[in-house]
Amino acid sequence: MKCPACRDLNNRVIDSRLGKDGDVIRRRRECEKCGRRFTTYERVEDYLPSVVKKDGRRETFDRLKVLAGLKKACEKRPISVETIEETADAIERNLLEAGDKEVPSSVVGEAIMTALHDLDSVAYVRFASVYRSFQDIDEFVDELEDLLKERRGARKSRRKRSAAGKVGGANRPSSE
Ligand SMILES: [Zn+2]
Repeated sequence: MKCPACRDLNNRVIDSRLGKDGDVIRRRRECEKCGRRFTTYERVEDYLPSVVKKDGRRETFDRLKVLAGLKKACEKRPISVETIEETADAIERNLLEAGDKEVPSSVVGEAIMTALHDLDSVAYVRFASVYRSFQDIDEFVDELEDLLKERRGARKSRRKRSAAGKVGGANRPSSE
């Protein structure tokens, strides 16, 4: 990002906002050389942070993994798909607006825990208990993905509890 005034490449981000449709991020920048402030519009996918796992491996933040974790935690809870998707969007938005290039996977896990805490106490406890035993959101979600794959394809043995198909929103009304 070159400064429009002096062409210097060094600047700092002073504000980041995600566009309404979620695919453009608008940043206010300040040139470190001449102090000129300017705005850039950047494609979101270029700015998603890398998630750093405990073992040091990195992978691009994946909203679908967060969504999978949330859905799993909220299974059979009176929470709409819209709410779950909005929650995943909010987590992604916060990460983008923070503007870090890398985030520890624990930050993503904590963000999910905080969101679930506000959403549904059962879903929160469910997620927190599993999450704490894995201590790594990626491990947790990888595990979830394996479970989900088994349910869908049923190629592998399905010993891990009955796989009773729960594809459609089979939310039971809650007495809560
Ligand atoms: Zn400048």
